[in-house]
Amino acid sequence: MKRKTKPLPSRAPASVVTSAAGFMAAHASRITHHASPTSVVTGAAGFLGSHLVDLLLARGHKVIGIDNFVTGAVDNISHLGGNRAFKFIEQDVTEFIFLDGPVDYVWHFASPASPIDYLELPIQTLKVGSLGTHKALGLAKNKSARFLLASTSEIYGDPLVHPQREDYWGNVNSIGPRGCYDEAKRFAEALTMAYRQEHHVETRIVRIFNTYGPRMRLHDGRVVPAFISQALKQRPITVFGHGRQTRSFCYVSDLIEGIYRLMLSSYDQPVNIGNPAEMTVLEFAREIIRATASRSKIVFRPLPQDDPRQRQPDITRARKILGWAPEVPLTAGLVKTLEYFRSKV
Ligand code: UDP
Repeated sequence: MKRKTKPLPSRAPASVVTSAAGFMAAHASRITHHASPTSVVTGAAGFLGSHLVDLLLARGHKVIGIDNFVTGAVDNISHLGGNRAFKFIEQDVTEFIFLDGPVDYVWHFASPASPIDYLELPIQTLKVGSLGTHKALGLAKNKSARFLLASTSEIYGDPLVHPQREDYWGNVNSIGPRGCYDEAKRFAEALTMAYRQEHHVETRIVRIFNTYGPRMRLHDGRVVPAFISQALKQRPITVFGHGRQTRSFCYVSDLIEGIYRLMLSSYDQPVNIGNPAEMTVLEFAREIIRATASRSKIVFRPLPQDDPRQRQPDITRARKILGWAPEVPLTAGLVKTLEYFRSKV
C-alpha cells in the first residue's frame, strides 16, 4: 500500500477565530462525541481542506489529513508541523484507506477543483469523485463515523433556475469539458445517499459555491487568482466572453463555518453554502482593479464551453437549519486575500 507519513517543518499551528459554541450546544448530535473527537479530512492540503483542518484543530479535534498533492500543497499545512493533534498521510484516496483507532467524522474534500484542472486531469477528477468517495464512505461505515461530502454548485450545471435552490436538479452536459467534475460530484452525491439508505451511515452533503481566500493556487486558472495576479503584475485582466456571466463569491472562513455547522447538525439533505451577493465577472474585474489600485486594462477572451451563465446560491435552507449566513463582505475578504497573493506573486 502506498502510504507514508509526511514530515512537516515544526511551527505553531495557525490560530483560527471562530464562534460556534452556541451552535454546538443547540445541536446535540446522534453519534457519541468524544471529548476530543477524531476527524479525517481528505484533500487536507488543498485550499478548503487546509482551512477546515485549522478550524477543526482550533475546536479541539484530533485531525488526520490525507492528500496526494496532485493539486494540494505542502505549504498549506506546513504550519501544522509539530502539532501533535495533527497527523498527515500522503495517499491517493481512490486507494483503500486503512486507519487504526476510532474516527468520529470523515470530511471528504479531495478533488481537483478548477476548470483548468478538469481539463488536465479528467480521469483523476472522475476517479476521486467516484472511487475516492467510495473509499471515504467505506471508512466512515467501518468506523461508524459521520460523513460529509464536499459537493458543488457545479451539480446545477448551467442553471435554468435562478437563484439555485437545493431542489433544482440541474442542467449538466455530461460529455462537455466540465462533465468529468460535474458528473463525478453528482455520482458522489448519489453514492452518499445510497450509503445512508443501505448502510445507515450518517451523511451530510454541502454544495459549495465559488469561494476565495488565502491559499488558493496562484495558477489554478480560477477567476480570483487569475484576476488578482494579473492586477498585481499590471498585466491585462482576461475577462472571458463579455463578462456578463455572474458569480457570487464567499470568503473562506464563512464557508468553513457553514460546513462545520452542517456536519454537526442533524440534517441529511444537501445544503447550499455560498454568498448570495451576485455580480458579473466584468464587475468583479473592476472590483479587483480598484482593490489593488492596478493600472491593468481589461481585455476580452473567448468564453469557455459550458461556462455557467449565472450562479447564485439560494441559502434559505442554510439560514433556517444552520442559523448560518456569510458575514465577510467582498471588500474585507479581498484585503486578506490580497495580503496572501502579494506574498506569492
Ligand atoms: N473567468 C474569466 N477570466 C479568467 C478566469 C475565469 O473571465 O481569467 C470567468 C469564467 O469564465 C467564469 C468565471 O470567471 O465565468 C468564474 O470562473 P472560475 O474558473 O473561477 O470558476 P467557475 O465558477 O466557472 O467554476
